[in-house]
Amino acid sequence: MAKTKYVYFFGNGDADGDESMRAELGGKGANLAQMAKKPLSLPVPAGFTISTDVCQEFYKLGRKYPAGLDKEVAEYLDRLEKTMGKKLGANDDPLLVSVRSGAAISMPGMMDTILNLGLNDKSVIGLANKTGNERFAWDAYRRFIQMFGDVAMGVEHAKFEAIIDEVKSHRGIKEDTELNTDELKEIVTKYKKLYKKEKGEDFPQDPKVQMWGAIGAVFGSWMNPRAIKYRQLNNIKEGTLKGTAVTVMAMVFGNKGDTSGTGVCFSRDPSTGKNEFMGEYLMNAQGEDVVAGIRTPQKLSQLAETNKKIYDELCNIRNRLEKHYHDMQDMEFTVEEGKLFMLQCRNGKRTGAAAVKMAVDMVAEKLITKEQALLRVEPEQLNQLLLPQLDPSAVKKAVEIAGGLNASPGAGCGQIVFTAEDAEAWAKEGKKVLLVRKETSPDDIAGMAVAQGILTSTGGRTSHAAVVARGMGTPCVCGCAAITFPGADKIKVGSKTYKKGDFLTIDGSTGKVYEGKVAVKPASISGDLEKFLGWADEIRNKSVRTTPSGKKVKGFDVYANGDTPQNAKDAFRFGAMGIGLCRTEHMFFDEPKLTSFQKMIVSEDTEARKKNLKAILPYQEKDFYQIIKTMEGRTVTIRLLDPPLNEFIQAADSKQLDELSKKLGIDKKSLAAKVAALDEHNPMLGHRGCRLAITYPEIYEMQVEAIALATAKLEKEGVKHDVQIMIPNVVSYREVEQIRAQAEAKIEEVNKAKKVNLKFAIGSMVEFPRTALIADKVAKYADFFSFGTNDLSQTTFGFSRDDYGKFIEAYLDQRIIEDDPFATLDPDGPGALMEIAEAKGRSVKPDLHLGICGEHGGDPASIALCYKLGLNYVSCSPFRVPLARLAGAQAVIKASQKK
Ligand code: PEP
Ligand code: MG
Repeated sequence: MAKTKYVYFFGNGDADGDESMRAELGGKGANLAQMAKKPLSLPVPAGFTISTDVCQEFYKLGRKYPAGLDKEVAEYLDRLEKTMGKKLGANDDPLLVSVRSGAAISMPGMMDTILNLGLNDKSVIGLANKTGNERFAWDAYRRFIQMFGDVAMGVEHAKFEAIIDEVKSHRGIKEDTELNTDELKEIVTKYKKLYKKEKGEDFPQDPKVQMWGAIGAVFGSWMNPRAIKYRQLNNIKEGTLKGTAVTVMAMVFGNKGDTSGTGVCFSRDPSTGKNEFMGEYLMNAQGEDVVAGIRTPQKLSQLAETNKKIYDELCNIRNRLEKHYHDMQDMEFTVEEGKLFMLQCRNGKRTGAAAVKMAVDMVAEKLITKEQALLRVEPEQLNQLLLPQLDPSAVKKAVEIAGGLNASPGAGCGQIVFTAEDAEAWAKEGKKVLLVRKETSPDDIAGMAVAQGILTSTGGRTSHAAVVARGMGTPCVCGCAAITFPGADKIKVGSKTYKKGDFLTIDGSTGKVYEGKVAVKPASISGDLEKFLGWADEIRNKSVRTTPSGKKVKGFDVYANGDTPQNAKDAFRFGAMGIGLCRTEHMFFDEPKLTSFQKMIVSEDTEARKKNLKAILPYQEKDFYQIIKTMEGRTVTIRLLDPPLNEFIQAADSKQLDELSKKLGIDKKSLAAKVAALDEHNPMLGHRGCRLAITYPEIYEMQVEAIALATAKLEKEGVKHDVQIMIPNVVSYREVEQIRAQAEAKIEEVNKAKKVNLKFAIGSMVEFPRTALIADKVAKYADFFSFGTNDLSQTTFGFSRDDYGKFIEAYLDQRIIEDDPFATLDPDGPGALMEIAEAKGRSVKPDLHLGICGEHGGDPASIALCYKLGLNYVSCSPFRVPLARLAGAQAVIKASQKK
């Protein structure tokens, strides 16, 4: 077997590796190699990269290096020394190196760079003599001890800072730059003493010991808690990366006087996307000075005036790098005594707006294809473009007071109120309000609808507040534990008190809460975004794939979940091709509909229920009419009632019971008996969904009548319509058979009465394992399936949707499961059941239309799974439609690349 190569050289116009080796060399190492070699041949200081394979082996072997690594590193160090004509840490003219970490995906959670490695008590004198700059040499040495001690050996940063502060205060100076050589020497002595005290050994003088110490620290940093957390938060699964690489690179100095400097630049503006070269630099400085913000850097445009030669050289490099990488580059450079060196380049991070603009511009510039453009934008980034945002310049000055879960994106600013009633009343007076609650319930819906934002102290991302807010597109921060409610008219956040009417601002994208008014910018859908999403639609529409069961499926649509005419308007505006789920129970959140709905729930007997249902029918008909009309002939899937009844009857104590009895006009005793009868131990698995229609067929009959009447009206008006009826919580084909027959009878009645000839597709939700397992039987009676993956995940995992918040963090932290199953569809559980349902369902009806309407329909990874499984569409909240349009197109492109 050939020996594994672990180390790769770059520099002197050549390199062993290239950009295709990101997995082995990390992003940094791969790009340095690519920049160094032909055709780019850019000025890169020489160095070598130890591959990520070593990191993988290091952990396999119980934190030991693979055999032969030491010899290979020695060989490459020798090559580096020969290239540079200097020896690492030599007494007279030392070669100094930087040691850097770098995985295939850039990971700020890992080790920082160590600079100036190779300095010791002797080589520092050599460096001083060679450069004729004693102060520079001793400053470099003290920086090295500090970085090595802190970053590689874990000596607390603050302890080093305390020593500098002591020396500065002794001399009465403020800035590090004012320290003279003697003081720097004194600091070095003190640093070394500190190091010995903390580590129990002398600061290493042997440069090779220093180098191996730094290499070990980089590999060790792969598993530090910060890096592990970063991977978790960014959904980087275990096993997708081999680890980090280590790059050892010759130092060049930007702090050798006024002809030296260092900077960072972007080939295009990362915040707007404009095709403008921009960046910052500092003369006579080392990299960390730019980052630390001790001195204010200058704009790159100033370099054009002060050093045109270097600026022109940089512009030239910028153009060549963009042409080569076909993407915006983020570059680091250093100028040493008038000579430019490139230290790093990578695809730059950017805002959502910039990502879309750059992608569209680069297609026009023929730099990339439409497919490449669509892969350039993270679907989640589109959220930034669609919701009101905090003005970034205002955020800089704002006072952050607390943080919670970023439950629904966008920025909301308003006067705080603590009840939904106040929210409504104040909004009627024209005030902008922010609703602050412990948690919310359906009773709060009207107040939530008028609020600029919602802030709760408890509850997770699937709490009532979060789900409803996302549906409305209202910014929401929930689970903000710092908030307490000491009285009816005030809240406390830490030690501060805020009264009703005070202004607060929330950022639902970050979960941050700010004091006072922070300026908010309205969302705008730019021409670029429209064009970009049009390409996504094209790609999805013409896609064809074969499902795991061997069926050919064409196209992949995006629908929206929408319960109200306003939702339908948003869905249409954001480009939904239909409504995939209209939850009819959500139409009863506001008054007077809520009261009539509650009356229906607590009806004494069938007669009373029928009477109460009659009162509801016109409300339903009106809403259906408007939703169907808004969608201009696009499919509208109306789900028959699926109410967890307890959510609508809140009478936990005598006071609430009293209020409810007055509101519904029912005496308190009979209401109490009814409430007790409705009480369930486990409402999610209780009397809900189509089970209600098996016991009370008149409920669904009223709804079907309302749907048919609304459609008949539109038919007569000549308005296009395509309405489907959907049955929830199906567990037996007999439910579908029976409910379908009752529905068809009702539709026939309306057809006769209104002299129309309406037909509706009637379909089944698939929300439980049993439904998927008998999908062939269900398909005989169902015209379509819609996967309700909220319930399907709940019942496959046996995790309660409402209670899993108590343990999910521990499951994720301990990596018992990789993803929150209610956010990302689990391919092995509900996903596997969907695969069975697809195969069984289409074995009976080959063209059976399949969709998803659980929350997963707006999650990119779940969308990709739905595409693979052969679903015809995904349906998600209206505000996630643009994201799903893009994520669906990305799934198509990626699947075709795998072939
Ligand atoms: C589902 O279960 O996925 C679904 C869409 O229904 P609901 O969330 O209303 O239970
Ligand atoms: Mg459900």
